[in-house]
Amino acid sequence: MYAAKWFAVITLAMLAPWVATAQTRASKTLDIYVIDVEGGNATLFVAPSGESLLIDAGNAGPAAVRDAGRIVEATKDAGLKQIDHLIITHWHGDHFGGLPELAPQVPIREFIDHGPNVQPGELADTFLKNTYPQLYAKAKHTVAKPGDKISMTGLDVRVVTSAGETIKTPLPGAGKANPYCAAFKSGENNAEDPQSVGIFMAYGRFRTIHLGDLTKNKEFELMCPTDRIGPVDVLLGLHHGQTSSNSPVVVHAVHPRVAIMNDGTRKGGEPDVMQTVHSSPGLEDLWQMHFSLLSGQEYTVPGMFIANAIDDAQATLPVAPIPAPAPGPGAPPPPVHSGKAYWIKLSAQPDGSFTVTNTRNGFSKTYKAKS
Ligand SMILES: [Zn+2]
Ligand SMILES: [Zn+2]
Repeated sequence: MYAAKWFAVITLAMLAPWVATAQTRASKTLDIYVIDVEGGNATLFVAPSGESLLIDAGNAGPAAVRDAGRIVEATKDAGLKQIDHLIITHWHGDHFGGLPELAPQVPIREFIDHGPNVQPGELADTFLKNTYPQLYAKAKHTVAKPGDKISMTGLDVRVVTSAGETIKTPLPGAGKANPYCAAFKSGENNAEDPQSVGIFMAYGRFRTIHLGDLTKNKEFELMCPTDRIGPVDVLLGLHHGQTSSNSPVVVHAVHPRVAIMNDGTRKGGEPDVMQTVHSSPGLEDLWQMHFSLLSGQEYTVPGMFIANAIDDAQATLPVAPIPAPAPGPGAPPPPVHSGKAYWIKLSAQPDGSFTVTNTRNGFSKTYKAKS
């Protein structure tokens, strides 16, 4: 009897480190790296167990090497040997573009997406036909559905939007009528942004969401008339701070204490988004990936909260925001930032407290747990 029992205990103890190959660290924090990919998206989540989730892989074309390199740098900082789960939110070049450069450098165990591209374009269509199937051939490929859980030890990670569908059942702690629905103003911009895979993540009492580039009309479907998300501590992404997203039905209803915007040097941070974010009840701080010319001094946050400038920084940012140039090949290039890039790092504790650090200037702020 005893012998058999001890044998079982010893066997388990011997197996444990071998089974848990992904567990390269033992931390008490959920760490989130918001990586600078120049107005694209790359957000890395590292669970206390060492398991990881990367949302998006930065830009395509000549920028892919740069952006993949910046992501690899963050995985090294986190001590990762692999990426356990990768979500490509949607088939835009600023989200999947760096993947062909990233995949050979870091093993990726699961590729998650919303399914086929619905906005025909050569870049995405060629990638999906010729490159993507080869990348996931030796891994797992998952087409996400709202309500799916992503398995990460110690975390509750759920898909809340995908392929234009949203969860129908409120998350734990959600389900109240959303008071911001009555004044909703619709907005849409293209076919792929509304397809974005969006996730909710909880670590103990800490809660966050990243909705990719989900547009206003889908925000409405997710949040109205019933708020299916509930309060979060941190709102991530914000579709680069662009006006086609960021309706109060999300930004105000989820009561974020902190928002972290993945904007570019001339992408996002427009006045109406800044007004929406700054009038969100309970917001303590907005952190940004870049100074954006679209904000001007009038709408920008203090530089302490901004991770990146531009290579040819002017002595002063103009006071007035500049209007965004019309999209398309005729638009002048935005200010370049190809020098050293900095991420914003967030470390969350299970009691709901968290610390955000700007690695450019070392400025760090701790948000205490709410009683
Ligand atoms: Zn930058
Ligand atoms: Zn985008």
